[in-house]
Amino acid sequence: MERQLVVTIDGPAGAGKSSVAKLLARRLGYRLLDTGAIYRAVAFTARERGIPWTDGEACAQIARDLDIHFDFVDETNHVFLGNIDRSADIRTPEVSQGASQVSAHPPVRAALLDLQRRLGAGGGVVVEGRDTGTVVFPDAGMKFFLTATETERARRRVDELTRAGKSVDFDQTLAEIRERDTRDASRDVAPMVPAADAVMVDSSTQTLEEVVESLAQQVVGQSKR
Ligand code: C5P
Repeated sequence: MERQLVVTIDGPAGAGKSSVAKLLARRLGYRLLDTGAIYRAVAFTARERGIPWTDGEACAQIARDLDIHFDFVDETNHVFLGNIDRSADIRTPEVSQGASQVSAHPPVRAALLDLQRRLGAGGGVVVEGRDTGTVVFPDAGMKFFLTATETERARRRVDELTRAGKSVDFDQTLAEIRERDTRDASRDVAPMVPAADAVMVDSSTQTLEEVVESLAQQVVGQSKR
C-alpha cells in the first residue's frame, strides 16, 4: 500500500527545482505546487497597481486577496490571476527581484501560508519553494534540498531566459542570483535553509533525468514505509 505524500523541494534560484518538481510530479502521478509563482504573483500585482515592494502591509493585502490558480497547458504549468494567463509576466528578472523583496515581509508570508497549505492538502503533491519543508509543510513525508554551484545555476537561468526569447547577460544574471540568494537566506522570517530532515541533492554534475530518477526512487521507497 503506497501513501500519497507531500514531497517538498526547496533550494536557491536556478538549482533546477521547477524542472525537477514538474517531472517528479508527472512520474509519481502527483500534483505540482509552485510556491515561488505565488510570491511572484504578489510582486507582479503590486507593480501593476503602483504599490512599492517595500510596503509590507499593502503587499500583504494583495496576498490575502490573491485569486490564483494553476493549470497544465501543453505540458507546462501555467499561472492564472483571475482568468488571465500571467505565466510569462511573472517570470521576468524584474519580478524575480520583486518576489524576493515582497517575500521578506512577515505579513506577506503569513497571508500566503494558509493558501499554500490548502493547495497542498491531502498529499499526493510535489511542492517547490524556499521554506516548504521547514515552515509550510514541516510534517512532509519526504523533503529534498536541491542545489548547484552558483555558476551552474546562472548558466541554467541564462539558457532558460534565452529559450524564452529574452537576451540576458551572464554576469548580470549571476549578480542577480547572488543578490536574491543573500536576501532569501538572511531574512528574519522563514529564511531559505535546508530542513534538518531534508535530503541534500547537488544537481551540478547530474542530468535532470538522473536527479528525477533518484528522487522518485526515494519517494516511492518512503511511501511504502
Ligand atoms: O522559486 P522562484 O524563483 O520562483 O521564487 C521567487 C522568489 O519567491 C524567491 O527568490 C523567494 O524570495 C520567494 N519565495 C519564498 N518562499 C517560497 C518560494 C519562493 O520566499 N516558498
